[in-house]
Amino acid sequence: MMPSPFDLTGKVAIITGGNGGIGLGMARGLARAGASIVIAGRNKDKSKEAVRDVEALGAEALAISVNVTDTSSVAAMVEATLKQFGRIDILINNAGMSVRQPAHVISLEDWNTVIDTNLTSAFICSKAVYPAMKDAGGGKIINIGSMMSIFGASFAPAYAASKGGIVQFTKSIALSWAGDNIQANAILPGWIDTALTLKAREQVPGLNENVLTRTPAKRWGNIDDLAGTAVFLASSASDFVTGTSIPVDGGYSVQS
Ligand code: NDP
Repeated sequence: MMPSPFDLTGKVAIITGGNGGIGLGMARGLARAGASIVIAGRNKDKSKEAVRDVEALGAEALAISVNVTDTSSVAAMVEATLKQFGRIDILINNAGMSVRQPAHVISLEDWNTVIDTNLTSAFICSKAVYPAMKDAGGGKIINIGSMMSIFGASFAPAYAASKGGIVQFTKSIALSWAGDNIQANAILPGWIDTALTLKAREQVPGLNENVLTRTPAKRWGNIDDLAGTAVFLASSASDFVTGTSIPVDGGYSVQS
């Protein structure tokens, strides 16, 4: 029987920020499809717990401590992955954060932290895995954008700028590395129930009601809603798909 085009058996995936929220939802999806999983985050307790979670699904998994804004830390993550698994087939640039202050309030320091964590990190990690993917004859890079890759956000200009940048960065590496059989795509999640958005609900008055009213699906997304698109973009099913951004948003981005 022909293997499923969504089968990830034998593939190795690094998921930054894979120790919670959307990253963990995608890690579970890839684990169910057969991939070995590297959970790359800062909080060691959360990472250990996430490793147990994906191991329970039958996957091999490894926790690696990394700060995605630091080139030497990312180089060590790549080295540790290659030492343990001997290959890197899939990178999901998911680590992210926000500082919710309008442009006339946010400090330059906070602006830089958001851009470094959400956008520059994707450049650092993608560049770091490129040699291993190229040498292996191909790979898959999945960058996590946002509805704010499309829409402005009065309360989060740095976050919106970083997520807009993710879309253009994705297109650019897709073009640079198409000849190396590396496909790069972005997922643009709608409003998903995670620690990040719990904080947003506390800080932005009316956010919960706005999300429920505006999202055609009339609910918050849950972290497992991201798994299917992540598996698609990580697998051979998407070998002719590159440079694009796919909203996973319950219809949010097509609502006028
Ligand atoms: P979480 O706060 O649950 O997850 C963020 C993850 O990023 C954590 O696992 C954290 O790991 C990791 N992280 C942050 N900074 C660093 C760093 N410097 N180095 C390494 N890891 C880091 O939020 P979400 O799951 O909601 O967010 C995940 C991604 O999805 C982000 O890019 C976010 O912008 C995006 N997104 C989320 C949406 C939502 O509605 N939730 C909507 C659209 C996009 P640790 O705790 O170990 O530091």
